[in-house]
Amino acid sequence: MSILLTGIGQLVTNDPEADDLLGTITDAAIVLDGGTVAWAGPASDAPDADQRYDLGGRAVLPGFVDSHSHLVFAGDRAEEFAARMAGTPYAAGGIRTTVAATRAATDEQLTSHVSRLVEEMRRQGTTTVEIKSGYGLTVRDEARSLAIARQFTEETTFLGAHVVPDGDPGEYVDLVTGPMLDAARPHARWIDVFCERGAFDGDQARAILDAGAAAGLRGRLHANQLGPGPGVQLAAELGLVAVDHCTYLTDEDVAALRDSGTIATLLPGVEFSTRQPYPDARRLLDAGVRVAIASDCNPGSCFTSSLPLCIALAVREMGMTPAEAVHAATYRGAQTLDRDDVGALVPGRRADLVVLDAPSYLHLAYRPGVPLVAGTWVGGRPL
Ligand SMILES: [Zn+2]
Repeated sequence: MSILLTGIGQLVTNDPEADDLLGTITDAAIVLDGGTVAWAGPASDAPDADQRYDLGGRAVLPGFVDSHSHLVFAGDRAEEFAARMAGTPYAAGGIRTTVAATRAATDEQLTSHVSRLVEEMRRQGTTTVEIKSGYGLTVRDEARSLAIARQFTEETTFLGAHVVPDGDPGEYVDLVTGPMLDAARPHARWIDVFCERGAFDGDQARAILDAGAAAGLRGRLHANQLGPGPGVQLAAELGLVAVDHCTYLTDEDVAALRDSGTIATLLPGVEFSTRQPYPDARRLLDAGVRVAIASDCNPGSCFTSSLPLCIALAVREMGMTPAEAVHAATYRGAQTLDRDDVGALVPGRRADLVVLDAPSYLHLAYRPGVPLVAGTWVGGRPL
């Protein structure tokens, strides 16, 4: 059953062959067939299809790819947020309060919580999401967090190295790289480390990523969020596909990202929610670094699931153009997950798309906070 969507005021294809960054087509149409894009182009050239919908001039974009989230948790830290807004600084150790609540929750409670958040993301246009563990921090709780995440996405990330829960850090690294990794591996595609003062240092991060690679998991890294550190250069040296946060960067860090091709994933919802300085996306882009945007949805430092909000923040606070920000939240996000089946609306890619109640993608940044997503389609079907 093929479907023709016509009456598209502006179609963002992200076609890498196009002259403009987003491969935009005005007065466009798209044909979806068997869950993938069969054709995209000017409406006047559109082929026939079994079914036809007129979108009345709305804009259509590739579904957002949220390459960084922490959705498996229990508990609520709204009071901690209020305290932070009253002047208490954010520190990595706040994670421990969520760890206690997550360990105490049943599988059913955790599953229903993830389900609610994934639904919330989809209503805001996210069609691919990466989900990390990291609030269990025992062999049992990390494995079950990943098994639950796997029910919602293939892009699951083992983050046993989120924070040292208690005891000796060296012994905890041995646990993460040993029995915990063995238990996590069947449910995970990626491995991640919070490389930051108060969490794990560069040597520990390297040991954990090496152990993960030996077990068949690909590396990602939280780095340079709260201050300068070794994480970004480690990511570049190891050839990781992405390194996330990148708020405090030296010139050497920027050069390492440029030379390695490692994508810098910026998470502006975090700086918004913690009143920290934003990363300088303009500096990275001007240096030739590839930049992605993700939500970092988590209960502590950033409890937003909204990529439209992150796009607006990236434009208004990080020096990105609206086109760069949309590209970063779709095409680049897909690249950070090493996915070439999503992130663009060109023939052969998955028919994951967002319909905006607006004539162009510019409205995502121009009208911040407005619920512009009129529809989200996943695999050629409307939700
Ligand atoms: Zn994170």
